[in-house]
Amino acid sequence: EPLIGVLALQGDVREHLSALRTSGARAEPVRRESELAEVDGLVVPGGESTTISRLLAMFGLLEPLRERIAGGMPAYGSCAGMILLASKVLDGREDQHQLGGLDVIVRRNAFGRQVDSFEEDLPVAGVDGGPVHAVFIRAPWVESASPEVEVLARVPGTPDVPGGDEAAGRIVAVRQGRVLATAFHPELTGDTRVHRLFVEMVTEER
Ligand code: GLN
Repeated sequence: EPLIGVLALQGDVREHLSALRTSGARAEPVRRESELAEVDGLVVPGGESTTISRLLAMFGLLEPLRERIAGGMPAYGSCAGMILLASKVLDGREDQHQLGGLDVIVRRNAFGRQVDSFEEDLPVAGVDGGPVHAVFIRAPWVESASPEVEVLARVPGTPDVPGGDEAAGRIVAVRQGRVLATAFHPELTGDTRVHRLFVEMVTEER
């Protein structure tokens, strides 16, 4: 079984650890560079991206993590994790650090106040067995993605995508090579299919 880390600085770390453990992986929290060096892949959890970003710098993990991702370590980010993996953030803070790995522009808290949090059943490409119950909590969306990025899911009925497929709605799940990201939180639902997809990605890479 692959060993998958969950970045454990802030956010819903426990939920990811248990989803990974029921998906055929060993899973351990990662807070130090030495722990990062041990893992075959890493989950960046949901939480507050600005807080996680600040703690990454404080814990000396920013550069080591950027290097591992650039070096091809599989990574999966949910919500705040998606924001951190993106190459660029809109409505972020000036001092927000990016890990890179995903050639997308994300918009923080994109769905706005009226729909701060919502749930929706969405088909997700690469996930078989019917739609995924997607839980959105002050979620970002992917405002634009480079052609190398595979779009896995969209929320229908959301505002037009400039230059994109207007009817299809905003992008909320993507994959670029070994990097996977969802604006929603599959770790909160008990449905482990997204985590299984990530465990497969890590296993293939090993
Ligand atoms: N709104 C949060 C942020 O900007 C993300 C919320 C979440 O991870 N549930 O970081």
